[in-house]
Amino acid sequence: MAERATIVGSGPNGLAAAVALARAGYEVRVLEASATIGGGVRTAELTLPGFRHDIGSAVHPAALSSPFFRAFRLRERIEWIVPEAGFAQPLDPLTPGGAARAGVAWHDLDRTAEGLGRDAAAWRAVVRPLARHLDGVVDFTGHQLLRVPRHPVTTVRFGLRALELGSALSRRTFRTDEAAALFAGVAAHANSSLPSPGAAASALFLLAHAHVGDGWAYPRGGAQAIADVLVADLRAHGGIVEPDSPVTDLASLDWGDPLAGDVLLLDTSPRLVLTHPDIPASYARDIRRYRYGPAAAKVDFALDGPVPWAHPDVAVAPTVHLGGTRDEVEASENAVARGRMTERPFVLTVQPSVLDPTRAPAGRQVLWAYIHVPSGSTLDPTELVTQQVERFAPGFRDRILSSTSMPASRREASNRSDVGGDILGGAFSFVQAVRRPVFSRTPWRTPMRGVYLASASTPPGPGVTGMPGWFAAHQALVDSAGVGVTLDDLFG
Ligand SMILES: Cc1cc2nc3c(=O)[nH]c(=O)nc-3n(C[C@H](O)[C@H](O)[C@H](O)COP(=O)(O)OP(=O)(O)OC[C@H]3O[C@@H](n4cnc5c(N)ncnc54)[C@H](O)[C@@H]3O)c2cc1C
Repeated sequence: MAERATIVGSGPNGLAAAVALARAGYEVRVLEASATIGGGVRTAELTLPGFRHDIGSAVHPAALSSPFFRAFRLRERIEWIVPEAGFAQPLDPLTPGGAARAGVAWHDLDRTAEGLGRDAAAWRAVVRPLARHLDGVVDFTGHQLLRVPRHPVTTVRFGLRALELGSALSRRTFRTDEAAALFAGVAAHANSSLPSPGAAASALFLLAHAHVGDGWAYPRGGAQAIADVLVADLRAHGGIVEPDSPVTDLASLDWGDPLAGDVLLLDTSPRLVLTHPDIPASYARDIRRYRYGPAAAKVDFALDGPVPWAHPDVAVAPTVHLGGTRDEVEASENAVARGRMTERPFVLTVQPSVLDPTRAPAGRQVLWAYIHVPSGSTLDPTELVTQQVERFAPGFRDRILSSTSMPASRREASNRSDVGGDILGGAFSFVQAVRRPVFSRTPWRTPMRGVYLASASTPPGPGVTGMPGWFAAHQALVDSAGVGVTLDDLFG
């Protein structure tokens, strides 16, 4: 009889682990708390019929460069939209009533640089070497950091840039409002204080993807397509997914016999391991010490037409960062890191329907947006987001047909992994890039036999990469067979 693998959680990492173990011959069962499958990669009609909104992730720069998804051939399994402009950040006119301004990260690096005036050379110098050696960047950032990198030159270059741009020195690197704002907007994805080396590293990773390959691509029809193809592959290899199956206590969960080779993988907050009856006190202490970060408050809009951006180039960029200048973005993010809010918060927006007509009825649009807020905040972001969009797109308010919001305080009830509304699986800092969630060369393996952590709370961390899930499955296979199984073995 085949060994059993029980996976708790059907996010991209749980499903990646499930696919790997099913292909390796395990009898796989995925237990999902929610009624719907996919965790951070789900799409649903949240507002009006025919308007399809991404519940979690919307744009996937890291999915197509992920070694797991490359082996899985995710690029070929679903249809991807590769935008001409990865992202844009509109700015106020220099004088009241003056011309609208914006920084735009085009897929074409030279076109981007040319739009950045006297920062053209600086943008090229920062981004081009990393974009040219994307494999080296992915190798370094896409693994446990406590290892010898395979591309040392790219790793050193990346590290030095992260230190420079993660400090006050960044003010000497980018001097135009456009380039400075573009960089700050991408760094703000880390939801931590700015500037900081951790946020700069995350920005460099995302920027390296913006100008090569498929750029900041996203699946036609929404992120749910990613979960759907993973589930299809899992089922084709005999695995099953059980929605509406929350796991609250590992002591009472029947997941088989670890001595017989059965395994349990947790695509959840690491806190769930605290319910294991045999958890050693020192490991429990480390898991309790793991820090969760500030949260996200999200709002989705159904619109009766495109967002009326004042700057025409912003209309063609699916991802739009709103928050004004670097100073404003930094003030907003630093306030949240200290547990406060500014009146004009940084807003991450995605307008997928500008390039994907399947997302809304003819002529209509969807807009996805979130702001960073302190952990557990009850703030409804709808009005703050509306004001920030209206600032750069006068008339936006009149286009709103319907909206629905999720304050941070409600997020954990919808996904137990989002502790306090943290959507990154734990605070994103330099220390927690290494201690994720514990200091170990094999952080996916717990001290309890057969039990593994597989979520974004393990390396390489958040984003839709499937890599934490693959590393956990790989560790389980190494521990049971004594030899490593490669992605080529499973998918070749
Ligand atoms: C609003 C939002 C926007 C985002 N935007 C992007 C983006 O644009 N691009 C990007 O790359 N990433 C983005 N992310 C991050 C990305 O979605 C996550 O990093 C990724 O989904 C993490 O995958 P995971 O499998 O580790 O966890 P999740 O996707 O969170 O899945 C965990 C699953 O486990 C289930 N679960 C948890 N606990 C239990 C339990 N005890 N019992 C049973 N089931 C349980 C949950 O219900 C959930 O389905 C975003 C996330 C959110 C929420």
